[in-house]
Parts: sequence; C-alpha cells; structure tokens
Amino acid sequence: MKKRLLFLGPPGAGKGTQAEMLCKSHDLLHLSTGDLLREEVASGSALGLEAAAVMERGELVSDHLVLSIVENNLIGNNQKGWLLDGFPRNVVQAKALKVLLDKIKQPIDGVVLLELDDESLIQRLLGRGRIDDNEEVIRRRLGVYREQTIPLINYYSNQGLLKSVKAHGEINHIAILIAEVLS
Ligand code: AMP
Repeated sequence: MKKRLLFLGPPGAGKGTQAEMLCKSHDLLHLSTGDLLREEVASGSALGLEAAAVMERGELVSDHLVLSIVENNLIGNNQKGWLLDGFPRNVVQAKALKVLLDKIKQPIDGVVLLELDDESLIQRLLGRGRIDDNEEVIRRRLGVYREQTIPLINYYSNQGLLKSVKAHGEINHIAILIAEVLS
C-alpha cells in the first residue's frame, strides 16, 4: 500500500471523508489544509483572521500561508506516512511541495483523483451546510477548482502518479475502489 499520498478532486467529492477513513486504517497522518485553516479561524489567531474572509468568498488563501501550515505539520511527523487532502490546489503549491519533499527525501507515492459530476457535487455541498456551502460560494469554489486545480491532473499524470476513482455511490464502496488503486 502506498503511504505518501495526495487527494485531488472538486469540493464535495468526498475527499475529507475518504481521507479520514484511509488514514485511520493505515495509520497515516491526515493533513487537510481546509481543516487546519478552519481551526486557525476558530482560534482567532492572526493567521485565521487573514484566512477567514477569503475562505468565506470561496477563493484560495495565499500560497505562502498554506505552505507554511503544510511544512510545519509535515516536518517531524513520525507516522508511517501522510495524506495531503486539499493541498496542493494550484501549480505553484505543487512545485513548492516538490521542493519541500525533495528536501526531506519523502517523494509522493500516489495521487488519488476523486471524480464526480457538478450536479452531484452541488447537491452534496448544499446538504453539508458549512458557512462556505451556500450556492453562490459553491459555484465560485467549483470555478476556482476548474481554473486553478484541474491543471494538477496533467501535472501528476505526466509523472505517472495519478489514479482516478469514480466517487459515486456508497462511502464504503468508494473506499474499496481507493484501496484497490493504491495497492
Ligand atoms: P476545503 O475544506 O478543502 O474545501 O477548503 C476550504 C477552504 O479553505 C477553501 O475554499 C480555501 O479557501 C481554503 N483552502 C483549503 N486548502 C487550500 C489550499 N491548499 N490553498 C489555498 N486555500 C485553501
């Protein structure tokens, strides 16, 4: 089983749920930049204040800020491996991640792309009810995904790392498909 992983996919594809299950069963460090940013916002830190307005609009927080969060959490981790969920979100972040991983000698083993059609995504997100899950912000987040994150599909598939999984249906069924592509 591969142990240094990225999860790519549009908002609402189920990255967070699947990442959590996989990390529990395989003892991987789960790093969700969205979760870590929401913790910063809740704590009222300076970093959280900087991120909050951007997140509520459905745009991307600055690369510099998310990179420092990822770096702080990855360095010194002594679990078996890690799963980055929701990071990188654009090519600049992917290139910066490469520099960091080269430095700590921990190359990526696999990138899982969770695929789901727009209608299903919007229905799932509307049902979830987070502050950035209203229809206008959802559409903006999908737009940001198309413009900034989709280029990463080619970026990682050119490196032979990409594994696509259709994220329809039962949570447990999708978990099995993910385990299969990573075995
Ligand atoms: P998520 O929980 O992954 O959907 O992230 C929620 C929000 O946090 C996003 O809409 C962005 O505003 C911000 N965010 C999460 N990850 C990143 C990232 N890698 N780069 C920039 N912003 C991010």
